[in-house]
Amino acid sequence: MSSSTHIAVIGAGIVGCSCALWLQKKGFAVTLIDPEAPGSGTSSGNACTIAEYGCIPVNNPDIFRRLPSLIFSRESPLTLDLAYVLSHPGWMIDFLANCREHKVARITRLLGKLLAKTYEGLDPLLEMADARDLLTQQGFMHVYVDQREFDAVKRSNQARREQGSNFIELDQGDIQDLEPNLKFPFKRGLLFDSISHVLNPLTLCQRYVECFKRNQGQLLPHRALEVIHGDGSVQIQLDNGENIEAERVVIAAGAFSKSIKGIPMSLLKLDTERGYHVQYNNMQHLLKRPVSWHHAGFYATPTDQAMRIAGTVEIAGKQKPANPRIIEYLTRKAQQMLELPQQPDQEWLGYRPTCPDALPVIGYSTSSEFILYAFGHHHLGLTLSGITGKLIAELANGEEPSHNITPFSPRRFF
Ligand SMILES: Cc1cc2nc3c(=O)[nH]c(=O)nc-3n(C[C@H](O)[C@H](O)[C@H](O)COP(=O)(O)OP(=O)(O)OC[C@H]3O[C@@H](n4cnc5c(N)ncnc54)[C@H](O)[C@@H]3O)c2cc1C
Repeated sequence: MSSSTHIAVIGAGIVGCSCALWLQKKGFAVTLIDPEAPGSGTSSGNACTIAEYGCIPVNNPDIFRRLPSLIFSRESPLTLDLAYVLSHPGWMIDFLANCREHKVARITRLLGKLLAKTYEGLDPLLEMADARDLLTQQGFMHVYVDQREFDAVKRSNQARREQGSNFIELDQGDIQDLEPNLKFPFKRGLLFDSISHVLNPLTLCQRYVECFKRNQGQLLPHRALEVIHGDGSVQIQLDNGENIEAERVVIAAGAFSKSIKGIPMSLLKLDTERGYHVQYNNMQHLLKRPVSWHHAGFYATPTDQAMRIAGTVEIAGKQKPANPRIIEYLTRKAQQMLELPQQPDQEWLGYRPTCPDALPVIGYSTSSEFILYAFGHHHLGLTLSGITGKLIAELANGEEPSHNITPFSPRRFF
């Protein structure tokens, strides 16, 4: 394709912004479409970690045994809205099917290989957008209440190591030395000391968009309603009545990607794992690095301006309001972990875009050679945004992708 080729990217979350910058790097003229401020959705409120260690999916053989307690306990980081699940059974059935041991092993391998490419995608964007100062390499810690909890995930942690993650095991004394402000007497832990985190993921998206605009990128503050196939191109109908014509379109609207009309995506199993955070201003000094309380299902991350307590999984679709029980759970657990004020300064709900096999969707649409998909990054969207952008730009440019993307193809659903 020539450098004057016009590509539209729908969705300016971290994945869409990364695709847009990588496409510009290849010389394309790019339009980014989003009715909301770039990065202000799910990409703003995450736990901020560049989670190269994150190859173990939420899917787990243990889920079957733990399901009743996970659903009904007030102490559970997983919440299922039964009415929602029963009215949308397909995703859940597939999710459970992917909890079988051999499936989990395959997902772990595929994610591990993709995660190994994290910085191949991220580094050039940080340089281009002058955003390196937003990343800090302080490491990352997983903590466990006791030896039994620690032993229960031994196999997963072994699988992490096999995928190239480096970590050391910690006892109670090590944990206290590294993070003296942890109130709870965690008995075991893991330290991944090469891990970085982003000090403010919203600012990162904003830097990307400033760079995008400097490179003559056009940002349209509108909702894309429909994609219409033309002869050798596509038209994108916007909610202000305008039609945009482009040679290619990249769908990067996160959990909302299926809502765009004109693209046959009904077989594509994309839903959302809702996640929450509560945030305490000016309390970031309490931790040096992100710490994840493994069984409680959240991270405590020191950001540039606050301590962010982010995590949990709720299967309840995109329409329901935030669940106050989960906010209460996170607030209570945060206070067990750290000396924090009674009330957080901010409560937040986000929508992880998740397929039941815990793999992202990266590649050409099955229905059109003009439409590319870049969504479904569940718990890893910040981490995998750069490499996704790189792969999408290679595809758009007619190159052989630098990483095997066959397992991430939308064809797997058909
Ligand atoms: C609690 C929590 C903690 C997390 N922690 C981490 C972490 O530590 N590390 C990590 O790597 N990942 C983490 N994640 C996951 C990560 O945040 C997501 O995977 C990522 O933000 C998804 O990015 P996205 O660009 O695909 O989607 P989004 O950020 O949702 O962006 C999609 C954009 O598309 C726009 N849009 C929707 N419909 C349309 C339309 N019709 N037309 C135009 N635009 C449209 C939306 O307005 C939005 O701006 C976490 C997630 C949560 C919820």
